[in-house]
Parts: sequence; structure tokens; C-alpha cells
Amino acid sequence: MTSKSNIVRIEDHKQINEPGGTFLTNVRSATGGHDLFLSMDEGRVYDANPDAFAAAHFGLTLEQYRDWVHGEGVPKCSATTKRGTLCNAAVCQSVDADKFKQLHRKGLCHAHREDIALVATRIGSADRTMNA
Ligand SMILES: [Zn+2]
Repeated sequence: MTSKSNIVRIEDHKQINEPGGTFLTNVRSATGGHDLFLSMDEGRVYDANPDAFAAAHFGLTLEQYRDWVHGEGVPKCSATTKRGTLCNAAVCQSVDADKFKQLHRKGLCHAHREDIALVATRIGSADRTMNA
């Protein structure tokens, strides 16, 4: 059991100037909040650009991170519609950051699916085994 007495919440607007201190912040994820415990140096990097720090934490680019959070983790189709805009349909259900990175604007929605290999194996994984 660790003592939380020396942990400072960054949102409390306290100075991030205590060497060896631990700073707690909560970043947005696709499924809600995500606690991060940061060193003083990490806290300063975080404070300079919270979204960029969070994106890096989840292994995403800033744009991917924002799409992941705002889209509640649902990867969007990579196809272009007849009107020339990006298809806004889902590739699959909400996924974690790693899977999102693999699928967002890379996989295809049901309507655009032409190449099964690009699509998550989890799609429709209700085990519909077909015996040919
Ligand atoms: Zn599509």
C-alpha cells in the first residue's frame, strides 16, 4: 500500500516543482478517464500539452488520439464515399488504443469490405462456424 500523501493532482494547479514528487493526472481515453502518475519532468511535459502527452502514452498520434476519444474507441472505415468524403461507418466495435491504431482509417466497414484480411478478426466473432 503506497502513501498518497505526496501525490499532487495536476488539476489542483499546484506547482510541478518538487523533485522526486509524484503527480497524478487523469487523461481522457475512449472509455472515460485514465489515471497517470507522473514524475516532475513528465508532469512538465504533460502540462505543456496534455493531449499530446496522452496521445504518446497510448501510442497514438495526436489526431488518432482525438479520433479515438471523440469516437468512443470505434475505428472508422478507410473508404471514400461516392461524394468524395471519408466513409464515417464503423469498422468494428469500440477497441483499445493498440487495436484502434491498426484499424482506424485502415480497415473497411461492412459495406466497403472487400478485403477481409484488412479487417479485425473480432468482427462478427459470434463464432459462426460454417461447415462447408
Ligand atoms: Zn465504409
